[in-house]
Amino acid sequence: MSLSPIVLSIPIYFVLIGVELLAERWQHTHRYRFADALTNISCGMTSQVAGVFMRVVGVGAYAFVYEHFAFLHIKQSWTAGILLFVLADLGYYWAHRLSHQINLFWGGHVVHHQSEDYNLSVALRQSSLQSLFTFFVYLPLAVIGFEPVFFVYISALVTLYQFWIHTEFIGRLGPLEWVLNTPSHHRVHHGRNPRYIDKNYAGALIVWDRLFGTFEPETERPVYGITVPLQSWNPLWANVSHYPALWRQVQATPGLANRLRVVFGRPGWRPAEQGGPLEIPPVAEDTYRKYQPTPARGVPGYVLAQYVVLVGVAALFVFTQKSMPPATRYLLAGWIAAGVVAGGGLLENRSWAWQLEVPRLLASLALLVALLWESSFLLWAGALGGMFVLASVAWCYKLRPVAGAAANAASGATA
Ligand SMILES: [Zn+2]
Ligand SMILES: [Zn+2]
Repeated sequence: MSLSPIVLSIPIYFVLIGVELLAERWQHTHRYRFADALTNISCGMTSQVAGVFMRVVGVGAYAFVYEHFAFLHIKQSWTAGILLFVLADLGYYWAHRLSHQINLFWGGHVVHHQSEDYNLSVALRQSSLQSLFTFFVYLPLAVIGFEPVFFVYISALVTLYQFWIHTEFIGRLGPLEWVLNTPSHHRVHHGRNPRYIDKNYAGALIVWDRLFGTFEPETERPVYGITVPLQSWNPLWANVSHYPALWRQVQATPGLANRLRVVFGRPGWRPAEQGGPLEIPPVAEDTYRKYQPTPARGVPGYVLAQYVVLVGVAALFVFTQKSMPPATRYLLAGWIAAGVVAGGGLLENRSWAWQLEVPRLLASLALLVALLWESSFLLWAGALGGMFVLASVAWCYKLRPVAGAAANAASGATA
């Protein structure tokens, strides 16, 4: 199967993020925070890399159902494409709604809502596990008879549509607000204000929310994020943090029926004897404090340099992984994961992040040699990569805090 439009659009994402950063400078507003935006990009990278391994579940199930149960075999055409777009968008509405309203599924979607800012980088903040919970919603489309490649492309367009609506620079859009999901509608969806919780699930068409009673207009400026903030820049923790909390909640709940409702009911549900469902806490923009540990001097520049390489390697990985031997594929995926985890940890001033970063850099050299060995890798790229890694080792050594300072920095991060 050829590449999804989501991957092909990577350069456009970064150009538009650049434009938004310029607009921020121009208007003297503060929409981006370096570590938050970088974590959003980390989550996007891990989601794409994980997708290489997990696509087999969602797309595999769709292809299986199409092969065995399809009523029709609908040919690709503009008319069929528009019809499929509308149906895939309706599927997205329900997949998204279930992701918010079933506690277990929420763990697969919460990642997208953890950013406390609202800008185009939030659109890239995607979960690695969400499709595991929601792929079944789309299976009726396979039964109708839309072939898998057609479905993958058109449903990617529903996701792609949602990129531009993650911005505060666009206000209201007149009559378009009636039909389309717009920046204003989607800002509401990302708000943690009580009136905005579980509203505006739309992908591209807001008509589904109007039809199914989940529409809420933007009447106050949203405070972005989730009611229990993540307080971490670690993209892997962002993806799994919900499950230990869910497990603890199950253990603390008496009775099987109650426990099942904790897992499959709404997030925050509790039995009456434990006080009933949790209230959504009120929140005020002027008193809300966003998670913002102060990184050590020089660290953001170092992490940014590593990310330029990481984003390049992750894109290259997604484009070329099919021709790689499985061992190289797993090693590279692990290396990218280690890179984003270390980057987040360095920005949080964690001492373990320094302990991870040095072996990661040394592993980069080993990976470069392995890629050169396979000869599909250009010699000059290997040499350039090697020089970058060696320069990074020296840079890392220069920035590395002494033992006492590291301990202080780490405790400062949690203060
Ligand atoms: Zn959502
Ligand atoms: Zn969003």
